[in-house]
Amino acid sequence: MKTLDDLIAEGVSGRHVLVRADLNVPLDGDNITDDGRIRAFLPTARRLTEAGARVVVTAHLGRPKGEPDPKFSLAPAAARLGELLGSEVALAADVVGDSARSVVSALADGGVAMLENIRFDARETSKDAAEREALADDLVSLVGDKAAFVSDGFGVVHRKQASVYDVAAKLPHYAGGLVLAEVEVLRKLTEDTARPYVVVLGGAKVSDKLGVIANLLTKVDRLLIGGGMAYTFLKAQGHEVGNSLLQADQLDQVKGFLAEADKRGVELVLPVDVLAATTFAEDAPFEVVSTDAIPADREGLDIGPKTRELFAAKLADAKTVFWNGPMGVFEFAAFAGGTRAVAQALVDSDAFTVVGGGDSAAAVRQLGLPEDGFSHISTGGGASLEYLEGKELPGVKVLED
Ligand code: ADP
Ligand code: MG
Repeated sequence: MKTLDDLIAEGVSGRHVLVRADLNVPLDGDNITDDGRIRAFLPTARRLTEAGARVVVTAHLGRPKGEPDPKFSLAPAAARLGELLGSEVALAADVVGDSARSVVSALADGGVAMLENIRFDARETSKDAAEREALADDLVSLVGDKAAFVSDGFGVVHRKQASVYDVAAKLPHYAGGLVLAEVEVLRKLTEDTARPYVVVLGGAKVSDKLGVIANLLTKVDRLLIGGGMAYTFLKAQGHEVGNSLLQADQLDQVKGFLAEADKRGVELVLPVDVLAATTFAEDAPFEVVSTDAIPADREGLDIGPKTRELFAAKLADAKTVFWNGPMGVFEFAAFAGGTRAVAQALVDSDAFTVVGGGDSAAAVRQLGLPEDGFSHISTGGGASLEYLEGKELPGVKVLED
């Protein structure tokens, strides 16, 4: 796999470089509520501009329906990237049309332009390879066939999409700093991992994480389960969970995981107490209850104090930790304590610690934990999880050829 270093060494001054970035930031109106993904892209952007490249950024935002939709314009992302870079980023009004052509041809050496949301073009996500390739050809003709392609959007490398996969096959291709860093970290989590290897999983639904649990059960020494998904595990062990998030249709699956963990000698640790609230609300009254005694009319919105201690103790001797999924409804301050406790245990640990998942990474920032307290915070939720499921990532594979 060739990297950004290789590209810089080949020389990029005056050359067009098409970069697929992940700038899919959360917005409140025109306001970016968390610019983590834009900041994460800065090192790659800076290296290219400092080397004199003419950088053309392509990215998506949200889920437009394959046609222009002002709600999903990349304008806020382009403005923020320009602020952070300290030089304006011109945004084309279209993806590969007249505006894109004029913005790209106006680029000076060391300049950055951005194409409008790539998902405004339905061919980006088409299942039909010929349609995707047609868009990839349009992208190539924008930047010229002497251009290079840098894949820096780790959050999208699990997608076989025109700007991620098809265009990479048509231009000399390089892994950007983010993709390279993520792939190296994920390899450490799946090959020759330093032990004890402890994984903490949480989040809303166990059904989102079935593949990850199944694959990680073959690799880890210990699996700690919190968050909404814990209730399906607790129910599978015979506990009553009241109104807590329960996926009854996953009970057989989860019983299978419990048996598998047992067979493999993986220590599976579940919450012993929870904050049981009267309703799903920020200001809902709650009490700490043992998981043996969750009242029928209550729902667990966070792990309790004993569980926080237990999880911290189970993390203390780890040499490798992967954490995905909040331990509770951290968006509500009253139910953020469990997530904070697990995050703090990672910060306090000497292990190689990796945080994966969009909400988990957002929680780390929202709760004000030091980002340098973790060995790595992944920018790609779905992509990391697919890799950990043991799947091949098409957008990485294509860079290897
Ligand atoms: P990530 O994006 O890090 O992979 P998920 O998307 O799986 O995480 O889960 C995040 C969501 O899980 C959060 O919005 C959080 O509110 C929710 N969640 C965590 N614990 C609970 C719970 N006990 N009940 C309901 N929702 C929960
Ligand atoms: Mg999520």
